[in-house]
Amino acid sequence: LMHLTKKLIEIRSMLLSIDQSDALKLPSIVVIGSQSSGKSSVLEAIVGHEFLPKGNNMVTRRPIELTLIHTPTEKGEKPVEYGEFPGLGLGKISDFSDIQRTLTDLNLAVPASEAVSNDPIDLRIYSPNVPDLTLIDLPGYVQISSLDQPESLKEKIALLCDKYIREPNIILAVCAADVDLANSPALRAGRKVDPLGLRTIGVITKMDLVPPELGASILEGNRYPLHLGYVGVVAKSSGKRWKKDATAVVAQRGENDYFGAHKEVFGASSSLMVGTDTLRRRLMEVLESSMASSLHGITNAVQLELEEATYQFKVQYNDRRITAESYVAETIDALKLRFKEFTQQFRRPIIRAKLKTMLDDKVMDVLEQLYWLDKRAPELGALAADPKVKPEDVEAYWRHKLEAASSLLTKSGVGRDSTLLVADGLRSLIDSIASGEPFNFHPQAAERLVEFSHALLRDRIGVTSDQVENCIKPYKYDIEVEPREWEQGREQAIRLFENEVTMCESKLKDIRKKVGGGRRLGHLIGYVKSLEEKEKEKKTRLIESAGSPSVEEPTQEPESYRYPPGQIIDARHAMLYSDRLNILKLRLMALKSKRCRAGPENDVLCPEAFLNVVADKLAYTSAMFINIELLDHFFYQFPREIDSRLLYDLDRREIVEFARENPVVRRHLDLQERKDKLEEVMKQLNSLSTLRADPQPAPRRH
Ligand code: GDP
Repeated sequence: LMHLTKKLIEIRSMLLSIDQSDALKLPSIVVIGSQSSGKSSVLEAIVGHEFLPKGNNMVTRRPIELTLIHTPTEKGEKPVEYGEFPGLGLGKISDFSDIQRTLTDLNLAVPASEAVSNDPIDLRIYSPNVPDLTLIDLPGYVQISSLDQPESLKEKIALLCDKYIREPNIILAVCAADVDLANSPALRAGRKVDPLGLRTIGVITKMDLVPPELGASILEGNRYPLHLGYVGVVAKSSGKRWKKDATAVVAQRGENDYFGAHKEVFGASSSLMVGTDTLRRRLMEVLESSMASSLHGITNAVQLELEEATYQFKVQYNDRRITAESYVAETIDALKLRFKEFTQQFRRPIIRAKLKTMLDDKVMDVLEQLYWLDKRAPELGALAADPKVKPEDVEAYWRHKLEAASSLLTKSGVGRDSTLLVADGLRSLIDSIASGEPFNFHPQAAERLVEFSHALLRDRIGVTSDQVENCIKPYKYDIEVEPREWEQGREQAIRLFENEVTMCESKLKDIRKKVGGGRRLGHLIGYVKSLEEKEKEKKTRLIESAGSPSVEEPTQEPESYRYPPGQIIDARHAMLYSDRLNILKLRLMALKSKRCRAGPENDVLCPEAFLNVVADKLAYTSAMFINIELLDHFFYQFPREIDSRLLYDLDRREIVEFARENPVVRRHLDLQERKDKLEEVMKQLNSLSTLRADPQPAPRRH
């Protein structure tokens, strides 16, 4: 049967890793007792080492799941003893004072505000000197609330203990012999959930502190009968008094001395259970039989869970297995693919068109600045319409204007602007990839992705914009225009102007609607014009009367109050749009004239066509060099950066963490793992039941 307990302890910890639900729990021994009842001393006596945190105010703050694993020593071998914290990855710890230190640190890590944490510490101890047992050490019951132990702590500990003393666990109630059992919170809590004491063992510590007869009468258990009985121990474990490496031996000796000295009461002839050895044996027996009787139920429960998990896995994932590694690989592949698709948006004609649009805006600005705001603008239209005027007759004024316009355009920082335009496009492409699936689940990876691609771009922007600027340099001095280019430029200018006309008209329409119709707008405009007139008169008068003492004007009510200020602003906008419309229409007429159609020699009279050709040339050249210096480079480098910088340095644990950031993958992995573990547990349980006397197969569902 020994074998059975060992196996079941293994199975128990596997089940604990599957889930914490009560249905899948094999029994463990839960140690409860009030503070200073000697709980730690008992546990250390069982283990044979001092390993629990000590010191003033050092109470257990987290449950310790203590699994003892008996490791038989072969003949002639040195016995090996060590502990392990499976959750911490610290490896084997052979020095028990290191275990003690780790437990102390884990305890201290619980924030003072919480005082007690529900999260158990998993500790395994391997030794030839321990029996196969699982014990859970819980924070001791607080008897008196003190300043540094708030009232709520008392309650918190009680709740925590209640959670653990439920079935099927065995309760080890630790009480000191020198304290009246009636005052033992451990016994009281035990009685609440196990009134007959069917799964409660009493441990009476500090037997040496009461007269042997009194001690014996406590162990007889007549006052508070427990089915599993009481065991008396002497388990002094004051770190100060014990020599470090001889702890177990000395303790044992002290206990033997005591019970040996009182043979008449505790000797073999009495039926009383005393001593740590007896306690160990008793615990083994009780755990064993409890485990054995749980076996059947747990097998059924696991079978049911396994069937459910198998069914779900089939239904939800069609039995498709995944690994964290495959998810990482797929994510990288998908990212590269996605990127590749996106690069289609950066083909040269598309880039050229984008740059052209940007330059068209610049052209419009230049035209507005140099032509539309010029009072003489209508003259240019008249010149274009006059067939007698020859291009060489046109005033130098207009030639200079055209040169200035062309120069404004070519020297407007096209290199930098066009490079930034494309780089911004790339940036927002990367940002959209980084914020979309699945990177929305992986914020750190997304951040990395954005970071290195932005860095990549930053590196290229300076070089590219210099290169582009350099290549458009010739256009700053001389621009040759072919007739075919001219015609194209003229047509494009017409299209742009027509769009602009449509835009102005719709704006005007909006304003008309907003202020309440065309007539009303007419009034408003008339009114604004009259205001402007008055303003002008006032200014000239002021200038004329400058120097002589000013005659105060009769104060009149400010006229603008006749209409709401919002409408005055609308009227001013409407005036701007209609001025713009007038000039656009004039220029459209010129652009469509015979003169402009005739060819590039008329550039001075048709600056729009000329500037359009210039913009075209600039866009073409810029796109070419941006392609070479920025895009080709970026498209080549980006997938390589993904390989070498995105998820390249993850270890196994980080890969799993990454994959689990995606909830869909996490659910898949969880279910798959649950199913695997249940299968493994089921296999082990089945192998056990063939060992058992009555190999009753678990009933199958359906
Ligand atoms: P815990 O707070 O319940 O874990 O109690 P400890 O195990 O730390 O013991 C509290 C105090 O009682 C310590 O000073 C121990 O040395 C002492 N103690 C524990 N067991 C015995 C015992 O069997 N006899 C005597 N005389 N003292 C004991």
